[in-house]
Amino acid sequence: MTRKKMNHIRKNRIAWLLLFAVLCAFPLSAAAGASDKALDPGPDLSEAQRSWLPDLEMYTPFWDRFQTVDVPGEQWFRVYALPGDVYALFEYRQSELVISYLILGETSALLWDTGLGIGDIRSCVQALTALPITVLNSHNHPDHIGGNAQFDRVMCYRIDSAVERLTQGYTHEELEGFIVPEEIIRPPEGFAGDTFFIAGKAPTATVEDGQTIDLGNRELEVLYTPGHNDSCITLIDAHNGLLFTGDTWYPGPLYAFGEDASLPDYLESMRRIETVIREKNIRWVYCSHNAILPGTDPVIEAGAFLEDVINGRLAYTMKDGMKVYTRSKFVSLQVSAA
Ligand SMILES: [Zn+2]
Repeated sequence: MTRKKMNHIRKNRIAWLLLFAVLCAFPLSAAAGASDKALDPGPDLSEAQRSWLPDLEMYTPFWDRFQTVDVPGEQWFRVYALPGDVYALFEYRQSELVISYLILGETSALLWDTGLGIGDIRSCVQALTALPITVLNSHNHPDHIGGNAQFDRVMCYRIDSAVERLTQGYTHEELEGFIVPEEIIRPPEGFAGDTFFIAGKAPTATVEDGQTIDLGNRELEVLYTPGHNDSCITLIDAHNGLLFTGDTWYPGPLYAFGEDASLPDYLESMRRIETVIREKNIRWVYCSHNAILPGTDPVIEAGAFLEDVINGRLAYTMKDGMKVYTRSKFVSLQVSAA
């Protein structure tokens, strides 16, 4: 081979490498650019609106890793396309930072929770899929059943407390102090903060521990995981290595207070989740608040942490009349002081 030809090949190789590098870099920068804008809360915020913004700022880098999806006309939910044919619907302009998920099968779709009820979640998910949609609630708290009444088919765990609560919804008075209109950033047009309530919707079916839900070439298994609340379930998508943990695990302070919570149950549930993560080779944990963290380490860490809390091995601080235990930035727990 002549030197000239070798140089030509070398130059060609460099050109291809450069092209490859550009192709690799371009989608990443495009996605990051879109995401930077995506979680911008906007200008001219009041003190109440700014009060919870440090949380949003802390979790924004985790969202920047995912590609946003534009839904025409959609203002309230920020939609992300996630690994495993799943969309996350993120309510980033209210302090709870609630996440609902649309899981696509071949013949039907499952909507894992319906959020706060502030935005029109039905229009949003119908813009994402033409498949028939069934709602499954991770548990019966208001930030997860807000849009239930917009759907024909709604399911929850087979326990009276969930069936009754879904049927009743939440009155405006019950939501006071939880959904604070002044804290919401740019609510959708027509949102009436002074009368806001969550409409009831009687579940059309219930699910139980070990039950399989078939979406058409995609099976999801239900795991009963009480603790945060007595109606909490976790959803396993073993084929795609996904775990939907609801409020049983998310980064940030976990809550185990109120009449519907149980710390011993919580520990048992975290141990079950730990087993699932190991046995089913879970790669992504899609939780219902704040952000999706890489890996499963903080989830596994939470089990040992809860055990230490129950055995009185950890010190706590007091906040709003509750005990706060902290293991790390993303693993902490609030329990009743009693
Ligand atoms: Zn919640």
